Amino acid sequence: MKPLIAGNWKMNGLAAASAEIDALIRLLGGSAPDDRDVLICPPATLVAAFAARYSDEAIQIGGQDCHPEANGAHTGDISAEMLADAGAGFVIVGHSERRADHGETDAVVKAKAQAAFRAGLTPIVCVGETKDQREAGKALEIVGAQLEGSLPETGEPFVVAYEPVWAIGTGLTPTIDDIAEMHDFIRSKTPQGTRLLYGGSVKPGNAKEILAVTNVNGALVGGASLKAADFHPIVTAAP
Ligand code: PGA
Repeated sequence: MKPLIAGNWKMNGLAAASAEIDALIRLLGGSAPDDRDVLICPPATLVAAFAARYSDEAIQIGGQDCHPEANGAHTGDISAEMLADAGAGFVIVGHSERRADHGETDAVVKAKAQAAFRAGLTPIVCVGETKDQREAGKALEIVGAQLEGSLPETGEPFVVAYEPVWAIGTGLTPTIDDIAEMHDFIRSKTPQGTRLLYGGSVKPGNAKEILAVTNVNGALVGGASLKAADFHPIVTAAP
């Protein structure tokens, strides 16, 4: 399966941050290599400009969230159709920060993932347990319930990102065995062809080992996607 290395910029980046993507492209020798997909999910304000600017370099652009409905009276929200219209190809849904900050339930995440399909976008559905849940031996059970509740109803492949909440932005990561166990489990619950990303403190120093795990088909990278010097070695670490 073609690896997908995705950068989640979260609420970071003004227009001048295109300099980091320009630098990444230079490091990649002029464009993203054919044997992997490289995706940047900038803040919504930059999606249209970046999608227009980087279409020739094969850097794909995605959104970080979408509303379940196509349009309507939802001040401040952005629909999947709007992201597609702006040139996005992917959208992250159900990131743990949205589940926590905006009270998004599995049902809401599922509706967003379905909206992505409706608009022709590929959803990246995020799941992951908290530290307490892992320590209680409940990681598989929790992620299993999240998958059950938040995956779109489709036979089409999409993307799932396993992001243990306790590993996001902390420098902590699960053991390679724990990542392998979880990804095998998620594989058994998703349509054939679905790419499974690991996310949570992926760095240049651990990317190779994580991306070599069976059923890890890429990475969702937060902090280390903001600087070309950090993101480039992760992009090239995928086998
Ligand atoms: P991190 O974030 O790489 O900064 O841990 C990952 C994510 O939240 O997608």
